Amino acid sequence: MPTVIVENDVSQWDDQTGEVYHFPKRYRDLLLPGERVIYYKGRMKDKRFEGSRLSKSPHYFGIAEVGDVFPIKNGKELLAKIINFRPFEVAIDFQQDGEYLEKIPKSKETNYWRDGVRRIDEDTYNEILSLAIVGPVSETKTILSDSDNQSFESGVEGRSSAYTGTRYERDQELRKRAILIHGCTCAACGFNFEEFYGEYAKGFIHIHHVEPLFETGEKIVNPETDLVPLCANCHAVVHRKRDKTLTVEDLQAMIKRDVVESV
Ligand SMILES: [Zn+2]
Ligand SMILES: [Zn+2]
Repeated sequence: MPTVIVENDVSQWDDQTGEVYHFPKRYRDLLLPGERVIYYKGRMKDKRFEGSRLSKSPHYFGIAEVGDVFPIKNGKELLAKIINFRPFEVAIDFQQDGEYLEKIPKSKETNYWRDGVRRIDEDTYNEILSLAIVGPVSETKTILSDSDNQSFESGVEGRSSAYTGTRYERDQELRKRAILIHGCTCAACGFNFEEFYGEYAKGFIHIHHVEPLFETGEKIVNPETDLVPLCANCHAVVHRKRDKTLTVEDLQAMIKRDVVESV
């Protein structure tokens, strides 16, 4: 059954449109691999976002399908890869002739629009699609591109052994997973390359392995707990001293202290 997924301007999830969608586990049965989804955006609350929206009022802005889904944070949240995203050329308003396109069940009359994931029936799906001018499948897979291979740190790379093709592929997969889970914002200082440099730097981030290299050996790397996104500056500082690797908390404490001192 098709499903509407909400992606608002400000989200706690660090979602990437058409690439990744986070959701709480209560929606687990609604977003399964292969499911068709329609993207929805609620009312504009902050003028800053005017340029990045198709419309100020609530609207539908694209279709896609759910790819792999996997649990994070001990299964409290799930993360769906989004595939075949096709943006609409023009916003489809959530109301047509004064009536909502989505059918609101009696039981949900008071809180329907609060749900971030909403199942719709085939008729509603087809009606929204019939109103839309659907663009081509989006090719902006920057976030998952392999081109930033310099910014991934393998758990075993510090050793002298050759960097084999298989390992390269595995590391790229780990990097992608880490970005899917943690996003592209520096975990220590909050820097985001796309926000600062714009589209050109979208998806750029270093992925740091939180355990010291010499202690990890060939242990399996868990991208959720062992890998963390860091900007190039923070990453350099973490590794500043050869005999010691700072933790993200160490770094945060240093940043905080510096901010306080400079006030
Ligand atoms: Zn940083
Ligand atoms: Zn590192």
